Amino acid sequence: PAILAIESSCDETSASVCVDGAILSNVIANQTIHEAYGGVVPELASRVHQQNIVPAVQQALLNAKVSKNDIDAVAFTRGPGLLGSLLVGVSFAKAFALAKQIPLIEVNHMQAHILAHFIAEKKPSFPFICLTVSGGHTQIVLVKDYFDMEVIGQTLDDAAGEAMDKTSKILGLPYPGGPLIDKNARNGNPDAYKFPEPQIPGFDFSFSGLKTSILYFIRDNVAANPNFIQENMNDICASVEKRIATILINKLKKAADEHGIKDVALAGGVSANTGLRNLLTETGEKNGWNVFIPKFEYCTDNAAMIAIAGYHKYLKGEFIGQDVAPLARMPF
Ligand code: ATP
Ligand code: MG
Ligand code: FE
Repeated sequence: PAILAIESSCDETSASVCVDGAILSNVIANQTIHEAYGGVVPELASRVHQQNIVPAVQQALLNAKVSKNDIDAVAFTRGPGLLGSLLVGVSFAKAFALAKQIPLIEVNHMQAHILAHFIAEKKPSFPFICLTVSGGHTQIVLVKDYFDMEVIGQTLDDAAGEAMDKTSKILGLPYPGGPLIDKNARNGNPDAYKFPEPQIPGFDFSFSGLKTSILYFIRDNVAANPNFIQENMNDICASVEKRIATILINKLKKAADEHGIKDVALAGGVSANTGLRNLLTETGEKNGWNVFIPKFEYCTDNAAMIAIAGYHKYLKGEFIGQDVAPLARMPF
């Protein structure tokens, strides 16, 4: 089947075409308008989605060399995400399916981040464990089948991506700061500063304490030396990145050990992070894991992951009616 997929849950408008499980295009329109505000402004995000959705779909069809008349189904992100952003993608998908008389497939954005691993040649085998780290979520997921997933650990407060973005804001870097922390960290000493590791039971996480300790650390040092941030930017970024990566991988290891699982995957926007990717690779080598790390374009939000999830739902004949509405919160 030829599937057109739409992603619009946050601030990326994305469209992808997938034919028989092969991704033929993945067009991502990023929104730069939010940089000035230090975070995504929901009202502005929906307006930009509205402007970009039709061009993104046209480009995705063009890149894939597939005519809109040859599309067999439309997959779309139903949630979780910003309601106004989701509405644009859901409405477009419904209108397209209605016009072409083809079925609709709803996709859970967080499941899709994980299912992005089924785009690559080398696929994990069930059951595997996935650490999903993104702007809004930090989850350890036991993946028993394509759509049979159990969240066995999650953050009690901030997400890992939020911790990255809030730290960068404290350092005066623009939004989204995660990629900038990554870039600066590559030239810094990760052991320059020690930040605390929270003691949270089970497989859960907490990042709000870390954020506060970074805030106080910066405040106190800037009081003593107004140029502290500029002079030590790379070391601060490297130390924060190392701490976040260590917190994440220690819990992931605990989960893999207790469940006796050797197939371990990483997903979500923060999986683009160099320090985290390296630490997972090292930990995997030490423990004899098969490690799965997505290609960069499939880490942050993209419609290819919605397309591959949609393809597997198509094979199961799981379609949804025209009365479907987006969900800001959408558990598995
Ligand atoms: P969710 O998937 O939870 O709904 P989202 O869709 O906004 O949230 P993603 O697009 O998956 O999140 O990820 C965005 C997050 O990833 C941001 O917090 C961003 O700072 C972070 N991020 C992206 N690249 C990197 C990187 N190289 N290093 C660290 N963080 C990164
Ligand atoms: Mg984004
Ligand atoms: Fe996402």
